[in-house]
Amino acid sequence: MLIETRGNDGRDANIGLYEAILKPVASFNGLWSLKNIPQISIDDIKDLSYNDLTKYIFKILGADSSLLCDALFSYKTFDNPNTPLDFTKLDDNLFLQKLYTGPTRAFKDMAMQPFCRILCDLAKKEDKKYLILTATSGDTGPATLEAIKNQPNIYAICMYPKGGTSDVQRLQMTTNNAKNTKVLALNGDFDDAQSVLKNLLSDVDFREFLDKNNFCISATNSVNFGRIIFQIIYHIYSYTYLLKHNIINSAESINIIIPSGNFGNALGAFYAKMMGIKINKIIIATNANSILFDFIKTGKYDIRNRRLLKTNSPAMDILKSSNMERVLFHLYGYERTKELMENLDRDKSYEISKSELAKLNLYFDAHKSDDNITLATIKEYAQKDIIIDPHTATALNAYKNDGIKTIIVSTAEWSKFAPTIAKALGLDSACNDKDALYYISSKFSLPIHKNIESLFSKDECNNTIVDSSNVGNIIKEWLRSIS
Ligand SMILES: *Cc1c(COP(=O)(O)O)cnc(C)c1O
Repeated sequence: MLIETRGNDGRDANIGLYEAILKPVASFNGLWSLKNIPQISIDDIKDLSYNDLTKYIFKILGADSSLLCDALFSYKTFDNPNTPLDFTKLDDNLFLQKLYTGPTRAFKDMAMQPFCRILCDLAKKEDKKYLILTATSGDTGPATLEAIKNQPNIYAICMYPKGGTSDVQRLQMTTNNAKNTKVLALNGDFDDAQSVLKNLLSDVDFREFLDKNNFCISATNSVNFGRIIFQIIYHIYSYTYLLKHNIINSAESINIIIPSGNFGNALGAFYAKMMGIKINKIIIATNANSILFDFIKTGKYDIRNRRLLKTNSPAMDILKSSNMERVLFHLYGYERTKELMENLDRDKSYEISKSELAKLNLYFDAHKSDDNITLATIKEYAQKDIIIDPHTATALNAYKNDGIKTIIVSTAEWSKFAPTIAKALGLDSACNDKDALYYISSKFSLPIHKNIESLFSKDECNNTIVDSSNVGNIIKEWLRSIS
């Protein structure tokens, strides 16, 4: 069911979902993507529950669904055990799709919960030890740790950019005391963290050490197709939700606006559109790190003179947006994708032609917001008693009422970014996470989820500060100590 985005170097490329989960890197450092894009018949899916829709999508993609049962069971811990997402109507044309009803209160749970369940089942089934290496800009780490904590045969290392996350995000990682987890604070930014892990994965000595100690390696970053597959489902479900509630008719197309960073969420919507779901445009919302905006508007992906900026929507602070590669593959083929990705590695830039750009723009439009605009948007909605996080604000700010029914993808609960929201509301900027959390909770009568509230009374027992040069050694030392 899968194919390599940069062509094949001679290795066996006839693999299924579970092999791609365990070996996410394809030939020439490429990725795995869908070999055939099946067309969905809306009549077949329009009445399906969330879990049945997931089973249906696995089936038409030809993905082995034998491990899916446990995976779907993971959604039982979400606010509504039958449907892991929720909707709020903002006006007749505008709907908020809330993807943060899981245990860490950000959309990463949507894919990470079922995906890690599959990993754990695979590890048990094969009686092997799996090591997961994850670079996180703030939400993937907590979601990974939460999904695998205290599971047998599976170990996770999460590396986050020191100072690059919110307090709540950091605490969600550093207070995790499960023996099978290790949290590293890297002196560097998110792109550095991604590179360190990518280099480690191709380091011969490190691989030998893992082999000798019987560890198989995997990654839970959104380049792993095992995550992407779960991120297709909710976009399709949103469409059927609008249909079922007679908000759209069967001839109507919708827009989806997505706060984007590594482009995993948007990629799920891209596949949904290719499968025939009536999506007019996927609108990519970015912050001041507007590399995706520039690319979609001009066809130039150029990071030569760009520094990664710290913004108030840190999960989108990315310049190398890995999943764009899969879009390039589907639109322009593997040879062109390999050429463009090699240009990016060598020159830190690539450019597509006018006609290639026109093709891209059939699917995508883009919008960017800086921190001030984000704050103003949070304030504007708070005046209507709608409390949104800064990532969601970038998407809301991208909305123009043009009569097209629009889904705003809301990627995090307000509680993960309370100081930013307090600042938007004019509270003293010295406000810390905890004070801001309680202030907003009481002012707007919003409950604080117990997983968030309990963080502040826990010890930060799992936090090792590292430089990129010693990451390999620290990981080896930890693995020796636990095996
Ligand atoms: C990860 C994340 C994003 C970015 O999603 P991508 O799939 O990487 O584009 C946006 N908002 C929040 C809150 C996130 O955690």
